[in-house]
Amino acid sequence: METIFDILKQTKKDNCGQCGYPTCMAFAAAVHTGGCAKSACPYIKGATDQVKEPVQDPETALAKELKQKVKGLDLAQRAKGLGAQIVESEHGKALRLRYLGRDVYISSERVYSDDGTELETRDQILLYNYLFFGGKGDLSGEWVGLESFPNSISKVVTLKRYTEEKVARHFAGRPQMFLERCQAIDGVNVPDCQADACVTVPVLPKVPIQLHFWDEDKEDGFPAEVKALFDKRALDFLDIESLIFAAERLAETITQE
Ligand code: SF4
Repeated sequence: METIFDILKQTKKDNCGQCGYPTCMAFAAAVHTGGCAKSACPYIKGATDQVKEPVQDPETALAKELKQKVKGLDLAQRAKGLGAQIVESEHGKALRLRYLGRDVYISSERVYSDDGTELETRDQILLYNYLFFGGKGDLSGEWVGLESFPNSISKVVTLKRYTEEKVARHFAGRPQMFLERCQAIDGVNVPDCQADACVTVPVLPKVPIQLHFWDEDKEDGFPAEVKALFDKRALDFLDIESLIFAAERLAETITQE
């Protein structure tokens, strides 16, 4: 049976949405569990399969597959590169790291928070992917837009819709609230920025995202705008789909009421 990653490799990997799923990863997970026909992606040549009854939620299947892969990893060896610490847990060694302003733990069995609660499946997937990348070196300290990364044209649209426009709409006329929400999850103000407010938020230790916020100008009819920037070496720490998901989780967290 093909794995989720086998299926993912056959897609165009640009999150175009034509299959009805927001990302190619979600589509691949759905096909894997039988909830979607491979032929729903027009870019997979020669696919003639039919939809079967879903046997498992796609996200859960993906998290399960990733968990299996974690079992073979040396967590202690990866800790430094990921900006994490090794701690003892009930399941043996675990990595402790900051994720959106809170401590989370990754062991070979679970991804959980300080109070022992398991994280949402989609967060588990993001953290497992971060772990697999293993942190390769240091960040560059240079900020770039998503459009600077290869094969990112369609992904820029996703980032705009689910992160930049969402944040801009939510904080229009409330730049101070935007700053406070970001600071509450370890965000740090960027001095001397051209925008009305600018914050760097370490979504993960090696995945900071910088949000530039320009407030609305009602008199001249300009809406609020947000631009998300990434470290130039961000793709050494996450694949581009996970990077966009990290930005979406950041947007969801700071706009939550
Ligand atoms: S149709 Fe779906 S799986 Fe195919 S490239 Fe577009 S988003 Fe990815």
